Amino acid sequence: MRAEQLLRRYLEQRRELGEQDLVLDGLTVDQVMHVLGARARMPSPPPAAERPVSTRVAESATDAGWRELLEAPPAESRVNEVGVAQSAKLHPSATAIFETPPDESRVNEVGVAQSAKLHPSATAIFETPELDTVAALVRECTRCPLYRSATHPVPGEGNANARLMCVGEAPGAQEDASGRPFVGQAGQLLTKILGAIKLQREDVFIANVLKHRPPGNRNPLPNEVEACSPYLVRQIQLIRPSVILALGTFAAQTLLETKLSIGKLRGTIHQYHDIPVVVTYHPAALLRNPAWKRSTWEDVQLARRILDSASA
Ligand code: URA
Repeated sequence: MRAEQLLRRYLEQRRELGEQDLVLDGLTVDQVMHVLGARARMPSPPPAAERPVSTRVAESATDAGWRELLEAPPAESRVNEVGVAQSAKLHPSATAIFETPPDESRVNEVGVAQSAKLHPSATAIFETPELDTVAALVRECTRCPLYRSATHPVPGEGNANARLMCVGEAPGAQEDASGRPFVGQAGQLLTKILGAIKLQREDVFIANVLKHRPPGNRNPLPNEVEACSPYLVRQIQLIRPSVILALGTFAAQTLLETKLSIGKLRGTIHQYHDIPVVVTYHPAALLRNPAWKRSTWEDVQLARRILDSASA
């Protein structure tokens, strides 16, 4: 497996577990440096003691710069420097949004205060009478820059009267190509997971936190979540499911406004306003870690019990 794939798989697993600290085991320093775009390895210099003092001073300065560079967040992720959980927060908070649409007249599409208006406005999204209207607004959305790199928006799909609503993170490559949520490998697994609790895809509603694909499936950025959140909130308002199944760390942390890891969040019933939320592993994570199948089975059984008791 190539170093990039190894590193990516490793990082996805860490993220799925809600971990922030990084120990790059299983990868050599050269592999990681290569992934980071470092140049080919230079021939080893002679031991420092054998070199003139001037060279040693110059080297230690370069060394310090190298460390600073690696430790400093890259420009793009600086907005994200507070970590996934904080970036994942719906803003304004769901509580605020449930009551009053925010005044966005001074925020532009990258979250910078300006007079330019976001399109469509949160007010327009909150006034949508039905899910199709929400989807229509998603299709013309320019609220964050992701619409420029995406092929198709993925508003979500399913039963408008669904009793169970699945919430994932963001469209992947196949979802971006088709405009439909969870249609790739992870989606096929989701269909099987739902089948295990006697639900067809047509019975449920499937949505994501983000409606456009982040390039290369990178983590959603805070301004993207902020811009996109009114759609998900409105979808939940319109569907009013008996239970929400949060798929993976990002969806769970976003809905529940928490930084807690998935290990801590799963196994209990949370609330999104008055709607029960069950947290489970993302199907893509499950494909990489079959050992989590049992826990996932327990989680969806919990969701099933909530549905059964709601109808009883
Ligand atoms: N992963 C997600 O979180 N959502 C999709 O729609 C597909 C993959």
